[in-house]
Amino acid sequence: MPDSHNHEHCISHALTSAEAICRGKNLRLTPVRKRILELIWGSHKTVGAYELLDSLKRDTPSAKPVTIYRALEFLLAAGLIHKVESLNAFIGCNHPEIAHRSAILICEHCHNAFELEAQAVFQDVTALSRQIGFNTRQVTLELRGVCAECQQAAG
Ligand SMILES: [Zn+2]
Ligand SMILES: [Zn+2]
Ligand SMILES: [Zn+2]
Repeated sequence: MPDSHNHEHCISHALTSAEAICRGKNLRLTPVRKRILELIWGSHKTVGAYELLDSLKRDTPSAKPVTIYRALEFLLAAGLIHKVESLNAFIGCNHPEIAHRSAILICEHCHNAFELEAQAVFQDVTALSRQIGFNTRQVTLELRGVCAECQQAAG
């Protein structure tokens, strides 16, 4: 998925499906929310709130941190992006039209992050924790390593 693909296609796919999803759920994808989604999709690397603010300020100098936080909240709730907890950063969701639970794979070499559908793992750990009486509120599954493309490049 990294540098050898047509990323323009990723961006246009993400924006088109975001519009369709918001229309279907009666959510308002305002221009600033859409712009922030587009900025998050600038690459497959994780991006933090302040980085987004800096980018947004290039075309909207009046942008404030709260602009970013509200938009991020909206995009998360709409399922259009995921939070990468360990980096306090965000990535665009690959298939927001389908309900899913993904582990996030973070490449320490190119810093791209990938989604890996892992519904069963989430169910397993939640069930195991319930067995010892733990009431789970949230499961975060983030893996670090080197992506296939970087391994190939390293020969
Ligand atoms: Zn891409
Ligand atoms: Zn996703
Ligand atoms: Zn990589």
